[in-house]
Amino acid sequence: MLAEITTQNLADCPVCHSSDTELILTHPEAYIDHLMLHECRNCSVTYLSPRLTPESIVFLEEASTVYDFTPAEVEYQVSWRKGIVDQLTQLAKRPGRLLDIGCNRGLLMESARREGWHPVGVELSSVAAERAREAFGLEIYPDLEAVWELEPFDVVVAWHVLEHTLNPVAFLRQAAAMLKPAGILALQVPSFDFRAEWVERNLAGSLLCAVHNFYFTATNIRAVLARAGLTPLWIDNDPQSLLLTAYCTRTVPDVDQPAPIDVSELLEEMAAIQEQASSWYKRAEELDAAVAEKNQHISHLEGMIRRLENGRLMRILQRFAR
Ligand SMILES: [Zn+2]
Repeated sequence: MLAEITTQNLADCPVCHSSDTELILTHPEAYIDHLMLHECRNCSVTYLSPRLTPESIVFLEEASTVYDFTPAEVEYQVSWRKGIVDQLTQLAKRPGRLLDIGCNRGLLMESARREGWHPVGVELSSVAAERAREAFGLEIYPDLEAVWELEPFDVVVAWHVLEHTLNPVAFLRQAAAMLKPAGILALQVPSFDFRAEWVERNLAGSLLCAVHNFYFTATNIRAVLARAGLTPLWIDNDPQSLLLTAYCTRTVPDVDQPAPIDVSELLEEMAAIQEQASSWYKRAEELDAAVAEKNQHISHLEGMIRRLENGRLMRILQRFAR
C-alpha cells in the first residue's frame, strides 16, 4: 500500500446503518490488498469495507491517466457519446439544461453541447476539470454545493459516479434536487450482476477495485432509487457492455385527496348565529325604546321640578338621568 493511501473500516451499512450485514466476496486488489464486499440484509446495498478515505480517493483520481487522449482520440470519444445524448434528448423531448456530475474531461458535455444542450459540469478532480475547460471552454464546478444556486436542470447525468460515492442514497437525493419537476436523472454503473463475465473477460479491475465503494445489481439499484425518492423510467442491465443504466424521475408523492367538506354543519351554525343576532337586535331596539321612554319621563319630571324651583328634588332627579 502506498504511503498516501489510507483506509477506514465501516462499523455498519453506510446507507441504512444496519449492522445486519454479510461478507459476500473478497478479491485481491493492488491498493488495499483484499477488497471485502459486504451486503446489507436490511437495505440490500453491497459495499466495500475497509474502504479508501476520501483524501486517498482524491489522490488516486488526480494521478489517473485514463483519459489522456490524442486530439483524434478526443474527437472519437466525443462523437460516440452522441448516442447517449440522443437518448437523453428523446427522453427530455428537446435539448435543455444538462448537469453532468463527474464530468471528467468534459467529453459527454461537449457531445451534448454540439446537439444544442446547455451543459454544466461538476468534477472533483481539478486536473480533469482543467482539461475540460482548456479543450472545450466548458463551465465546470468543483462540487455539487457550487451548483446549488444555479437554475434547475432538465437532465442530470451521473455516469460511473454512484459506485464512487460515500452514500449513494444521499448522493442521489442531492442530484435529484437539481432537477426541474419533470427532469430526468440518468445513471450508469458497472453491473455487479455480471461479475463472472467481468472476470472472464479479464476486466475484473473495472468492476472490483478500491475506488468503487458500492456494487449495483438490477435489484439493489431499484431499492437505492426508491430510498432516494426516484422512480425508474427504465433500467437496462446490458450483458454485452456489462453496464447497468437507469433513467429515472423524481417520485411524485401520493397526495391524499382532501376529505370533502360537510357544509351542512357550517350552514346550521350560521343560521343559529343569525337567529341569535336578530334576537339581540330586537332586544337592543326594545332597550333603545325603553331608554327613550325613560328619558322622556325624566325630561317631563325635570320641567315640573324646575317650575317648583326645588334644588333637592333636582339633585335626586339628576341621579336617574344617566
Ligand atoms: Zn443497509
